Amino acid sequence: MAGSGAAAAEGSGGLAVLGPVSGAPCCPHGPALLFVKTSQGKEEERRFYACSACRDRKDCNFFQWEDEKVSEARLAAREEYNRSHQPSFTHRQNVERFKNFLLLPLPKRRFCQECQQLLLPAEWEKHLDHQFVCDISNAQLKSPSQLLCPLLNKKTNAQYLFTDRSCQFLLDLIIDLGFRRVLSVGTPRLHEMIQSKASQEDFRVRSLLLDIDFRYSQFYTEDEFCHYNMFNHYFFGGEAAHEICRKFLYEDNGEKVIMVTDPPFGGLVEALASSFKKLMAMWKETEKEGHNNQEMPTFWIFPYFFEARILEFFPSFSMMDYQVDYDNHALYKHGKTGRRQSPVRIFTNLTPSMIVLPVEEGYRFCAICQRYVSSGNQHCEMCNACTSKDGRRWKHCILCKKCVKPSWFHCNNCNCCALQNHTCEKTDAGCFVCGKAGHKRSTCPSLSRSRTTCQADKKQRQKTLNRVKMRICNRSAMKHAIFSRKKVKNKKKKT
Ligand code: SAH
Ligand code: ZN
Ligand code: ZN
Ligand code: ZN
Ligand code: ZN
Repeated sequence: MAGSGAAAAEGSGGLAVLGPVSGAPCCPHGPALLFVKTSQGKEEERRFYACSACRDRKDCNFFQWEDEKVSEARLAAREEYNRSHQPSFTHRQNVERFKNFLLLPLPKRRFCQECQQLLLPAEWEKHLDHQFVCDISNAQLKSPSQLLCPLLNKKTNAQYLFTDRSCQFLLDLIIDLGFRRVLSVGTPRLHEMIQSKASQEDFRVRSLLLDIDFRYSQFYTEDEFCHYNMFNHYFFGGEAAHEICRKFLYEDNGEKVIMVTDPPFGGLVEALASSFKKLMAMWKETEKEGHNNQEMPTFWIFPYFFEARILEFFPSFSMMDYQVDYDNHALYKHGKTGRRQSPVRIFTNLTPSMIVLPVEEGYRFCAICQRYVSSGNQHCEMCNACTSKDGRRWKHCILCKKCVKPSWFHCNNCNCCALQNHTCEKTDAGCFVCGKAGHKRSTCPSLSRSRTTCQADKKQRQKTLNRVKMRICNRSAMKHAIFSRKKVKNKKKKT
């Protein structure tokens, strides 16, 4: 039996998500997604359901064959399991607790680091042998992302927080573009920056946070935070929470609202896209008149090597050169030697020329491309575009008829550009997919273009993720044992 479906999906590359389907069985994270395994030659195997949110079976091991008969007894047990795996306090209860917490004098304000929970004095006893922080100030309560330890179990819930600089840039951009409401989907730090400025007189932007991290319900009311799963568009708070989101989008006839999302990078693009389309559709329902053919303005923050995948689902999007950086990503921080390159970009359906990037960070406007580009990005006469994706200056290859990374050279064997020390794809061994000689699976003509791109994307992504994983500061990751679960190897790995 395959492991957690999504986990297998990440591992093998031979899995496709068929998306959220009606009547899907539920795990504690809402309706499961339908997956199908594709393997050499054979079209597809049995389809199965697996958890939408967790790509590590340690976090959620839900699994069910699509055609599997599930007994009444097992269904009942499953329901009971799902119920018992919900948070111990409801959002409503947490809001009440927060009100009481605010009434406490500083010395009585404790935050349990082990349980990641604000404690009321009556609860102290239960947490006596836990580590806690005292004297929680109002300022600290306004920046929960600093108080909470980032969840870094990479496969499920990688939380990478924006640096102040990137967060401020995003907010300034949003304000300059005239937006008044931000649907923050998996962007708690942006949400908190907006919330903390809400008391300023001339500040008129509001935000609604949708995130799967329920710890945030301790700090925000039901109008400010919805417990939400962006892989299956599931509102844990049911119809009431759904309605709060709808109302938020509804205000001002749906005008001046933007969705900003920064999903975990290991995420399944098709599942994310399907949820974002549903949020966009929700917004569209709210339109009274006017902008009928428009899409809800969106910033999707994601690594540049997902460009093809994102554009597949959102042809109206384009990728901006701005490099988004993160606090707990050692790799993406700017050190003494200057700024490190971050692979993370903004994808948007707004007109690129409207996205003004900071000149003081080296971005400049390309009049031909009508967009801001990074300093190293040279306009290529032959491509008629500023072609760099990673910020470095790319070079044009006449044989490939396109620009390629500066470290690449044209290989006559492979008939394309590649790293100098690459292993040529053209070998005597037959292709893994079709069995013919002369090419390998990644360039197999029998695979659709998108599949091939997808696999290339995956390889590239895995490389970068591995690099990132190695360098992430373990400091916060390892401190709290409960949030750093050990990885369990996939039982069934493709060989
Ligand atoms: N850079 C952002 C945080 C991005 S990290 C910021 O600084 O605000 C990814 C975020 O997505 C986290 O907040 C995480 O809790 C959330 N997330 C992860 N999986 C999710 C899911 N299935 N549904 C909704 N949110 C999820
Ligand atoms: Zn689950
Ligand atoms: Zn250009
Ligand atoms: Zn070129
Ligand atoms: Zn070439």
